[in-house]
Amino acid sequence: MATTDTIFQHGTLGLLVPGLFDGTITAGELLSHGDTGIGTLDGLNGEVIILDGHAYQAREDGQVREIEAHETLPFASVHFEKPDVSAPLTDVAQADFETQVVKDYRLKNVFAAIRVDGTFKHIKTRVAPRQQPPYKTLVQATATQPEFSGDNVKGTIIGYYAPHLFQGATVGGFHLHFLSQDHQLGGHLLAFDVDQAVLKVQHFADFHVHLPIDNEAYLQEEFDNETIDHAINKAER
Ligand SMILES: [Zn+2]
Repeated sequence: MATTDTIFQHGTLGLLVPGLFDGTITAGELLSHGDTGIGTLDGLNGEVIILDGHAYQAREDGQVREIEAHETLPFASVHFEKPDVSAPLTDVAQADFETQVVKDYRLKNVFAAIRVDGTFKHIKTRVAPRQQPPYKTLVQATATQPEFSGDNVKGTIIGYYAPHLFQGATVGGFHLHFLSQDHQLGGHLLAFDVDQAVLKVQHFADFHVHLPIDNEAYLQEEFDNETIDHAINKAER
């Protein structure tokens, strides 16, 4: 029976920092742990958006395609969707959204999934460009990334809020991706303005981390918390 009170995360954001971009879980297995979420593909190949049991890749060329079950990911977070809050949003800027959502739904020290379906006055995303081994670091790999934007876009914001204590394991604070309804615009969300939308929040008591313990590069890596913290602030916000 699918549990709706747990985030399942494969890998850590921290492992992407030194460039451990090899996919270590299949999309098929990932989707057995959740029907909704975000991530990246093998080789840091674009941005993954998982909605209603389907995983999509926003690619660096701006195209969006559905991911096949055999494809692999180095990092992803998923959950089974069952929001405990649903609220209409009208005319909300990003900064106000983030402050208000943390306050209204008491997110500061909890894990939560954030989903916003509706119309957006403005959306700006970026997409990590595919890397080839030997891999560069996350900061080097994302130094130049294509950005995409649209006005009056219908679509869905999906992602998570995590307590800042967990920066490194994941992104502390908000980590949001976007997919337009027509699949013409997607990626890691950089900026948005809500026109009319519905916000859904799902709080989680449990955060389940699944590590790639069969991956040689992962086993050998010497992780450094300070480097990871700086890299996440640079590459993921
Ligand atoms: Zn992202």
